[in-house]
Amino acid sequence: MKKENTSGTSYKGVSIFIILILFALCLGIFAFLQFSDFAAVKSFDRSETADNGTAAPLETASADSQLQSSAGAPLPPAGAVGGQTVNTGVSPYVIPQYPVSPQRVTLTEGFYYEPVDGNTELMDRIRNLSYQESINTKISFDKLSYVRVKYINFQDQEAEGELICSKLIAQDLTEIFYDLYQARYQIESVRLVDDFGGDDTASMNANNTSAFNYRLTTGTTNTISEHSWGYCIDINPLYNPYVASSDGVTVVAPAAGAPYVDRTQDFPHKIDENDLCYQLFTKHGFTWGGNWNSVKDYQHFQKNTEQIPQ
Ligand SMILES: [Zn+2]
Repeated sequence: MKKENTSGTSYKGVSIFIILILFALCLGIFAFLQFSDFAAVKSFDRSETADNGTAAPLETASADSQLQSSAGAPLPPAGAVGGQTVNTGVSPYVIPQYPVSPQRVTLTEGFYYEPVDGNTELMDRIRNLSYQESINTKISFDKLSYVRVKYINFQDQEAEGELICSKLIAQDLTEIFYDLYQARYQIESVRLVDDFGGDDTASMNANNTSAFNYRLTTGTTNTISEHSWGYCIDINPLYNPYVASSDGVTVVAPAAGAPYVDRTQDFPHKIDENDLCYQLFTKHGFTWGGNWNSVKDYQHFQKNTEQIPQ
């Protein structure tokens, strides 16, 4: 009896020991996962507070798992998101100097627009990038304007930017950008999408503001984007992503904009109806993609859709 008793106690001891080991393992895994989340949040907060003094929202892990880019690419870690930390592979920007067009319209120093047509250097720069001659039968160089503006960047410094748009909204864009500049509204980058190889995703990932680009609509394979006519502009797209839901899957473009999908949160560079961009563009007769019902395109303002050629 004594022997059996000892043996019973031994088995019981081993069982308790194994259970304790398993419990410790579970605790370890749980602690590791918690630490990983914590590290991501801390890293994200640091990158945001350094520039803006306000922490941006972070999607939960479960929400993130449903998000993917239009190309199906995995989401980057939240700490990699936010202005300067996104590496676009684009060389440092030197704004070009073009000959003055006789048709140049100057609003004030640093703010003007002129025809694209006739500026051979510029036409060569955009040909087969934003200006797709092989598939583009709808819009010609003479329908486009080249717009030069000054703006306030994310370092709160004055910078020079350039846009190409339909000549029908060139005056509007020049005036709006002047008002944004006067109000020191921060825009991260205002470059032609051609500097990103005509790739809208690359431009958005760099949080670049751009207008004309002959391309397909985000999330489709056969619909020509409104940007093809130059009637639209995307402002600070990383912080104001395109969001569409289909079959329970949320598509965010750019994918790095996932932390900014939840518009109930407060964060810098968010466009909503209280934002100066919204107020200026709507005053000039533009509509805002954030008011669309089927999808939301918080970066997007467009005008004159009734004049888009079919
Ligand atoms: Zn757009």
